[in-house]
Order: sequence, then C-alpha cells, then structure tokens
Amino acid sequence: MGTSKDKLEYSVVIPVYNEEDNAELLYNRIVEALESMKSPYEVVFVDDGSSDKTFQVLSDLKKSDENLKVIKFRGNFGQSAAMGAGFKYASGKIVIAMDGDLQNDPMDIPNLVKKMNEGYDIVSGWRKNRKDKMIIRKIPSKIANRLVQKLTGVKIHDTGCSLKAYRKDILNKIRVYGELHRFIPALGGIEGARISEVEVTHHERKFGVSKYNITRTFRVIMDLISLNVFMKYLSNPLQFFGRLGLVFNALGLSFLGIMLYCLQFSNFTFEEVNVLVSTTFLFFAAGFQILFFGLIANVVVRTSNRIKK
Ligand code: UDP
Ligand code: MG
Repeated sequence: MGTSKDKLEYSVVIPVYNEEDNAELLYNRIVEALESMKSPYEVVFVDDGSSDKTFQVLSDLKKSDENLKVIKFRGNFGQSAAMGAGFKYASGKIVIAMDGDLQNDPMDIPNLVKKMNEGYDIVSGWRKNRKDKMIIRKIPSKIANRLVQKLTGVKIHDTGCSLKAYRKDILNKIRVYGELHRFIPALGGIEGARISEVEVTHHERKFGVSKYNITRTFRVIMDLISLNVFMKYLSNPLQFFGRLGLVFNALGLSFLGIMLYCLQFSNFTFEEVNVLVSTTFLFFAAGFQILFFGLIANVVVRTSNRIKK
C-alpha cells in the first residue's frame, strides 16, 4: 500500500537496540501482517544508538520500501525515549508499539486493531503465557501490575507488555520518558482514554540478548512512585506541600509550647531555653516556606494549563 502521510491508518513503532539478527525477520513479519489489513501504513524503527549492524540492516531494507522509516539516536537513551520519539514521528491514526526482538508477534496486530474498532483508545497486549524467567521477570512484573492496578484504577493485566495499540490523539497528550512507557495506559487513563486488552502470543528470545537486568525493577518502582505522586498531586501541588507545611508549623507550635512551659512553670532562664527558641523559629520558617512553595507550584500549574489551552 502506498503512503501519503495524512492518510496513514497505522504506524508500527519499534525501538531497537542491538537487534541486528532480529531486525529483518521482524520487518518481514510486520509487513506480512499489515499488508493483510489492506490500509496505508508505515513502519517506524527507532535505533536507540545500537553499536552493532542494526542501523545498517534497516537502512538497506529502507532502500526498497517507502513505508519503512528509520530514526537513529546518537546514543543509547533507553526504550522509553526511543518509543517516545517514534510516537512523535508516527502519523497513523492508530499507533502500534512493539519490541524489536521477535518476542512480540506482529500477527497479533490485526486482533489489537479489531479491539480498537470496538471503541477503545488503548488496547494492551496481555502475555498470558509469558516466555521469560520466573524470578527476575515474571514475579516482579506480577507485583508491579498489581500495584499499578491499585494506584491507577486501570485494570489491565500486563502493563509491561510493549505490544499495544494507541489512538494517536491520546498519545499526543502523553509524554513518555524515564521508564514510563510501561505505564502509558495509566497515563492515558488520566486523559480519559477507554482502555481494553487482548491476549497476545509471546515467544522466547532467539537472537541477541535482553537489555535489562534486575536493577530495572528498582527503576520501575521509582517511576511507579512518581506516577502515583503525579496522579494525586499534579493538578493541585498545594495539597501535598500544604500538608507538609502544616506538619512543620505544628512542630514549631509544640516547641513554642514547651518553651513557654519551661519559662513559666520551671526555673529555667531565657538563656537556658535558647535552643528551644531557635528550634521553634526553624520549624516555623521551614513550615511557611514549604507552604509558599506549594502556592507557587499551584500558580505554575495554573499558568501552564492556560498555556496549553
Ligand atoms: N531497547 C531499546 N533501548 C534500550 C533497551 C532496549 O530500544 O536501551 C529495545 C530492545 O531492542 C527491544 C525492546 O526495547 O526491542 C525490549 O528490550 P528487551 O527485549 O531487552 O527487554 P525484555 O524483553 O528482556 O524485557
Ligand atoms: Mg525482549
């Protein structure tokens, strides 16, 4: 199918980092799957600073296919950044993301799209029969999925599955960085996206190696925490800073009380309670500063909302 940029129906976005043995096979399978759908599409590979022949392989393929686009990063900026760049570039009405290591199967794309057409904005793949290591992959992922469901109220089983379909206008509202590509449904949920899931096949990695180890779990947890803070306080930061400021002021008040008590009912002199004076002052000063910080944060949020509109 030929492409005229404003008429594209589908964009497939694939971040790749040192996937030289997977790139061509995957490309062929994607083309096969998308040709069967009979609508204009593009395939966007984002080379995340590979040091092997990945870019070379893709560039060669590109020569004979105008539907193939290749973005190249100067360095390795991570899967989220690569995915984000691909999303920004993609111009299809529906954007499908997937891994570049053949663990996701392009033959699932028609199913995702079919589900989208039932009236959803995001359809997530669910690797029900996941082919990864138990201890370092499946268990942390089960826990993370539970947490995300609790925190966000978005009830999908496999937020970490890259194979997902998104409506482009929802993606335009979301910024993907850090490890956040795993939580796009949650971020989409904030924007009011209708979300669903379908089961997808998952294969073992045949070529190349996984780019992650157990430390990823910690990075994911950090992003999960920031996502939580985001969801709770982003529209009204004073809720957070205000509470913290009040705690500090309450502490200041208690120390003031203790100081007055010592002066009034014990035989302490003013010099002897000196330390209480400075502590009291410190807590009040910090308390008010935090409160004002929250006020300023609220002003910033209001202003940026106005700019966005
Ligand atoms: N990837 C990337 N940049 C990175 C790490 C990974 O673009 O810094 C790509 C990688 O090439 C693959 C996808 O992200 O296409 C998922 O990575 P991987 O298969 O290593 O993750 P796993 O399946 O082990 O969770
Ligand atoms: Mg993989």
